[in-house]
Parts: sequence; C-alpha cells; structure tokens
Amino acid sequence: MNGRVDDSFTAVIGLEVHVQLQTRSKIFCACELDPHAAPNTRVCPVCLGQPGTLPVLNRQAVRLALRLALACGCEIAPLSSFARKNYFYPDLPKGYQITQYAFPLARGGALEVDTPGGTRRFPLERMHLEEDAARLVHEGKGPVRIDFNRCGTPLVEVVGAPALHTPEEAAAYLRALRRLVRWLGVSDGNMEEGSLRCDANVSVAPTLADRPGRRVELKNLNSISGVRAALHHEIARQTEVLRRGGRVEFETRSFDAAAGVTRPMRSKEEASDYRYFPEPDLPVVELSPSELEDIGALLPELPLDLHRRLVRQWGISAEEAEVLVEERALAEYFQAVVAEGIDPPLAAHWVVGEVLHLRKERGGSMESFPVEPRRIAGLLRMLERREISTAAAKKVLVHMAATADEASSLVRRMGLQLLDDEGELEHLVDAVLLENEGLVEKYRKGKGGLAGYFVGQVMQASGGRADPQRVEAMVRRRLDEGGRQ
Ligand SMILES: [Zn+2]
Repeated sequence: MNGRVDDSFTAVIGLEVHVQLQTRSKIFCACELDPHAAPNTRVCPVCLGQPGTLPVLNRQAVRLALRLALACGCEIAPLSSFARKNYFYPDLPKGYQITQYAFPLARGGALEVDTPGGTRRFPLERMHLEEDAARLVHEGKGPVRIDFNRCGTPLVEVVGAPALHTPEEAAAYLRALRRLVRWLGVSDGNMEEGSLRCDANVSVAPTLADRPGRRVELKNLNSISGVRAALHHEIARQTEVLRRGGRVEFETRSFDAAAGVTRPMRSKEEASDYRYFPEPDLPVVELSPSELEDIGALLPELPLDLHRRLVRQWGISAEEAEVLVEERALAEYFQAVVAEGIDPPLAAHWVVGEVLHLRKERGGSMESFPVEPRRIAGLLRMLERREISTAAAKKVLVHMAATADEASSLVRRMGLQLLDDEGELEHLVDAVLLENEGLVEKYRKGKGGLAGYFVGQVMQASGGRADPQRVEAMVRRRLDEGGRQ
C-alpha cells in the first residue's frame, strides 16, 4: 500500500501503548499486583486516594521502564518528575492521575520492526511512567461496579511518532513491541488481559506532501487484529469525508469490535483541559550513570539482533529463526542445545518442529518442558551419527518427555537402533515389492511417483528404524533392475 489509501490520500498513524510493568507491588504503595485476586482485596489508603497519604515510588517500576527505554535506544533523562493530570471519573479516586508530563523518563529512540520489506526503525517520541486507574466492571443491566485492585498498577506509556502509514505497519509495530516487552521481562504483554493497551492517532491527508488533517484518536483497541480493523475503518471513513469536501473533526472515537466500526466518544481534550501541575508529594526521579550502566549491562541480546545472528552466523533459515526469537525461553533452550555441540540447523529444525509441537500438546511453558537441552542433545547426537532414523528419534523424544531416561538407553530398550544390515533391508524391500505386484507393474509403465509409496511401506515394515534415503535408493535400484529383465 505504501502509505497510500488510494491514489490521492495518505494516512498518518501514531500509536500510544500503555505497557503494564511486571512488578510485584503497585507503583506508589506496597499493595500486591494480582490480576486474579478477588475485587477490592489489593487496596490501601494510598491507592484509594485517601487524604493525608503519601505515595512512594516503586524503584523496580523505574528499572523495568528503563530496560525498555534502553533497548529502544532512547535518550534517558537523568532527572524526570511526576505531575498530576486532573480529571473526574469514577475509576480515579484521587480525582487526578499521577503521570510524567513535562519531564518524562526517556525521549527519542526507535522500535525496530520486521516488515515484509525488511527491518524498519519506527521513531518513538517518549516513554513515561504513570499509574493505572481502577477497573469499571459492567455486568449486564446491573449497576457498574468498581474494582480498585488495578488502581496504581505501574505503566510505561510508549508514545510512537506519527510515522506509520498503514494498518498493517501498525500491527507489525505492536507485534514487535509485545515481543520486546516479553523478551525483556518488562511485561507479560497480554493484550486480552489489558497488560498492553493501545490508542491510535490517525489522520488522512490529501497527498503525502500535505500536512495531515486533524487527528482522530481511537480508543478501546484491545487486540492486534482490533487495531488493524479499527484503522482500516477509520482511514476509509476519513477519506470519504475528505473526498466529499468535508472536514474531519478533532475527536476521540471508540472502536466497536463486533460491528467493525468506530463511533464518536467525545471531542478530543486538549492538554489544558487536564490542568497538569507538578506532583508535590513525589521527589524528582534521579538516575545516576552507574545505575543506568548496570541496567544496560543486564540487557539480553535483542530478538532482531539474535535473528540476524542465527541466520548469518549459524545458517538457520529465516523462518525458523523467526519462530525461535518469538520467545526468549525458546531461544535460550535452542542455544543451550547448540552449546552441547549439536549442528545449529539440526537443533533449530528440532526445536521449532518436534519440541514446540510436543510442548503445545502438553501445555505449559518452555521453562517446564520436561526434556532438558542436554538430553535432547543426546538424542540429536545419535541422529547426527546415523545411529537412529528421524522417525525413530521422534518416537524416542515422546518417551523422553515422560521419563527421565537418556536417549541412548531408550533407543536400546525400544529396539530402535538404525537397521543397518544390508541383507535385512533387502529382504524388507523384496517383501514389499512382492506384496504389491500390481503397483510395481504400474511403476514400470511410467508411474514413477509410486516409488514414494514403496519407500513408505518399507519404512513401516522396519518399524521406522530404516534410513529412508537408503531405502529409497534400494527400492529404485530393485525396480529399475526388474525393468531391465
Ligand atoms: Zn495500595
């Protein structure tokens, strides 16, 4: 699409993403963060905004936000501070939200995003810390209830520059951000549960060179597909308004996912509506160079850097590398298998294939996957030495997941050593060809594709213990020999 909505219109999109930080307690009090706790059981006078209480900044929230900011190459402010954003709403007991306004934690930087056209760097404007509001619970026609457990949850707001041009770019940006916050251990990144919440600013301009029109802010975007659908709808709506010679209003609209349309919520607030002023109860956030250095030193290799290394240095296919860098625990598992001396492409193939498949069947996380890297390396080593067939190795892996046994002892016990005896193999091939005389005839009349079927039959007869390449060579030799007789 190249940013062009149609021949004469261009969309400009900026995303603001609220990332819930994975701390143990809230940002300004000691209340525990537990999304599954019964409503209003994780509250105290501070997060309920009672008079006379004082907030105390949770330093771990600052450290997690800094991890993300450093990973995005932002410029970190040595001094940042909090402000009060005043508005009245039932989910905000104090009547104001504590947030960073004039002096945010970080500015600039970029989010690296893999797109079909290659890696792109989408610039960021800023990152700042703030507290979350309570949750309004709407249940049927009954009264709206308020759960204050969420009140005071630490958030870092990642404000992207208006540099995206299509709903697909916006979706790729969000996927990359979600992967990064999970990778860094900053957030669980779960959009459905609200750990990642996205607002989008979108405006459509008659041509790329024009200044975009007035921005519309889209709210209630709680899934990546929702963001994409909302943007598609909103860009089409604004384009239509402009094409008819109308004017796009400066407003906030909400996305109705069920109907697939955006609807006006309210006219957009200006910053002055919030009467921001400095928060008098919290000191300035000071960061020493050594503190920043310590956090920077603990940053892991980032997913896109690892992806490049896996492909260039280790010869892994781009697709398999893509899967491996989707989850840090998986990437670490894979690297531990390679560290055992296994050929990287073979290890990648097995981790992306059998290991992921088995984990999906069993459920649970990579950390609780029962076959440790050392044991699967033992299995892959037998495969590398051609002591077992691939089919047999797959069977063995399933048993390894259910026991603490080593691959070699399982192979012995299950009788799965590679069938190596030439005479025995020939015997199996002959038996299969004899049983399928009709098909052999067809093969010789030109149905070459049948060779695969014969190989499959021989593999089955061998209990998966034969080397399929060797069987295929043998089958073809036999069939072609027969043809000459
Ligand atoms: Zn509290």
